[in-house]
Amino acid sequence: AKTNPSETTCYYEHGMDEKARRRRQLANDLRLAIDRGELALVYQEQRSLKTKMLSGYEALLRWHHPGFGPVAPAEFIPIAEETGDIIRIGEWALRTACAEAARWPSQIKIAVNLSPVQLLKPDLPDTIAQVLLETRLPARRLELEITESAIISEKIKALHSLRRIKALGISVAMDDFGTGYSSLDTLHSFPFDRIKIDKSFLLRAEGNHQARTIIRAVLALGRSLGMPVLAEGVETQRQLELLIDEGCDEAQGYYFGRPVPIQGDAPGFVLAG
Ligand code: C2E
Ligand code: CA
Ligand code: CA
Ligand code: CA
Repeated sequence: AKTNPSETTCYYEHGMDEKARRRRQLANDLRLAIDRGELALVYQEQRSLKTKMLSGYEALLRWHHPGFGPVAPAEFIPIAEETGDIIRIGEWALRTACAEAARWPSQIKIAVNLSPVQLLKPDLPDTIAQVLLETRLPARRLELEITESAIISEKIKALHSLRRIKALGISVAMDDFGTGYSSLDTLHSFPFDRIKIDKSFLLRAEGNHQARTIIRAVLALGRSLGMPVLAEGVETQRQLELLIDEGCDEAQGYYFGRPVPIQGDAPGFVLAG
């Protein structure tokens, strides 16, 4: 059946309208989300592949909107970056994660994601120092995960900020490695401590010779630069075996555990296995 062109247009515009309206609503409600207790952190295990021990957790934000239910970070973080609310939200996430981690066994690290907007704010290093002081988390137990996009927009500012952060004794991981425009250049010009291979490579690696070759190349690169490599998105035993075969240092993914809330004083850590 033929559709009436004006109807099609109408439907299309209606769809756009809905999207824009949801976005406006989310932007508006996000301002109050912290105070209303709608934000939470979940934590996902990072494991050493040599010892099989738990080495740390990555903190990931969750937002439970009173009307829409759970809203994915992939949707609300870009909005928060646009409105500038990511500064407050990111600081809340950092403080909450550090306070939580301060109660864990001292060999367990905490990794917190950092938005480019946060990185380019000149007082970030002071804020981090303040949070470490308040929560009494030793700096060596904190790692910040930074994507390449954080860096390419304003290289000099980003480098300056990274150096000041590192001077506090914190480590910095390059997140989503391999998805950016110039990952090699970025890796070479910035003082990262660790590489996180983006999960898209592992998801494609089984039965895909090229993806496996890329993983192998990233591991060789990490070794030659003296940077441990963590692979994201490990979902199956086969993927895990591939990583062990290739000599990957650490891994994270649904195979080991989904991101989960941690509450109470006795998180019940399983350190081996
Ligand atoms: P990311 O930093 O790359 O985080 C990894 C994402 O992969 C998380 O999605 C995690 O739940 C998901 N994941 C973990 N294991 C597996 C697996 O085995 N398979 C698959 N398919 N996925 C897996 P999530 O929690 O939805 O977060 C999405 C993105 O939102 C994050 O990507 C990060 O860029 C951003 N984000 C989350 N929390 C924060 C935060 O506190 N601050 C900032 N700035 N960004 C955050
Ligand atoms: Ca991350
Ligand atoms: Ca990542
Ligand atoms: Ca990502």
